[in-house]
Amino acid sequence: MDWPALNVSTGPGEVGDWTLRAAARPPLSHHDPAFVELFARTAELLRRVYRTEYDVVMLQGEAVLALEAAAASLVAPGDRVLNLVSGSYGAWYAGYIRRAGGEVVELRVPYNEAIDPEDVRRALRDDPRIRYLSVVHVETPSGTVNPVREIGRVARERGVLTIVDTVSGLGGTLLSPEEWGIDVAISAPQKCLGGLPGLALLSVSPAAWAAMERHPASVRGSYLSLLDWKDAWLAERRFPHTPSVSLVYALEATLGRALDVGIERLAARHAVVARACRAGVRALELRTWPARDEIAATAVTAVAVPEGLSDAQLRGHLRERYGVMMSGASGDLAGKVFLLGHMGETARPSVLAAELAMLERTLADLGHPVALGTGVGAALAELAGWGEGGA
Ligand SMILES: *Cc1c(COP(=O)(O)O)cnc(C)c1O
Repeated sequence: MDWPALNVSTGPGEVGDWTLRAAARPPLSHHDPAFVELFARTAELLRRVYRTEYDVVMLQGEAVLALEAAAASLVAPGDRVLNLVSGSYGAWYAGYIRRAGGEVVELRVPYNEAIDPEDVRRALRDDPRIRYLSVVHVETPSGTVNPVREIGRVARERGVLTIVDTVSGLGGTLLSPEEWGIDVAISAPQKCLGGLPGLALLSVSPAAWAAMERHPASVRGSYLSLLDWKDAWLAERRFPHTPSVSLVYALEATLGRALDVGIERLAARHAVVARACRAGVRALELRTWPARDEIAATAVTAVAVPEGLSDAQLRGHLRERYGVMMSGASGDLAGKVFLLGHMGETARPSVLAAELAMLERTLADLGHPVALGTGVGAALAELAGWGEGGA
């Protein structure tokens, strides 16, 4: 099959040439002082992107490695963990907690909703033995965002440590680990940062390190071990095993670019494009999936599959006829929701216009009533003033 003309999936997505060129440089030995220097510089850039003074860790593997590593490193047998579920990634996290021997206490809302911090407060008050809380910042398949700032503050008041999946958050929305009470923030380069897949990123608070040190059998000598990285890289500037050298070059370029644009500006761009996308979708008389705009993600717009069409038909036609790669939802929402991606390098007016235009053409091809240009027009109207005033 031909490669797509436009990749508006939920990642891996479009990658800038600065990143690709960096990845193509010859691999250095990871013992070479030039590489050690480059790795340290990349970690500094990552701290700035996370807007944190906490330590950062870069694991070789995609984000799910870091999600599992956080549970395996922190959760001891019998530890109670409040797992917040507003979508399929949240639901999935329970498995990592159980594998580490933890007891899952679940707080669940429908997948078009967000977690209410007051419910978290109540759950923590009702069960004072809870030690950790896990939450997904941006539930990609649901197209929703959870109020992590408020949830983190509630957790901190109760001395509960937090594990936050911000894989589709970092870069697309602002976060602040210290202020928000995020003890472990997990992300990846290939979503809102527009980088290459293959690395898992974490920021780790001193309290989270202390909890791992206190853990009687925190995982060691393993790909899942965060303490291995602390002892090797953070303490002694050596690596527990060979890092993915080329992907680190790529990450350095990706993060450098994000910082050149500015993290605040990058997040603002995502927000404006997301708002324009919702306007376009509604003008086509399609239904956005999140219950309210206040909880709609900036990285992706989740849309209910219109009656009379199937998700497979819609996205299949987009891909086969027009070379547009669009993601569907996973888990419980599979088939019910499709995802208009606008993350990282695709959080741009030009990409959004093309994406909506080809969606319109596809709907018309499939016999769904649509006045061509309506969605694009509504989106463009929302984009008035783009790029002015530093946005
Ligand atoms: C993409 C995604 C992941 C998984 O990331 P991988 O890099 O595929 O391992 C986890 N959580 C969320 C919310 C995501 O969007």
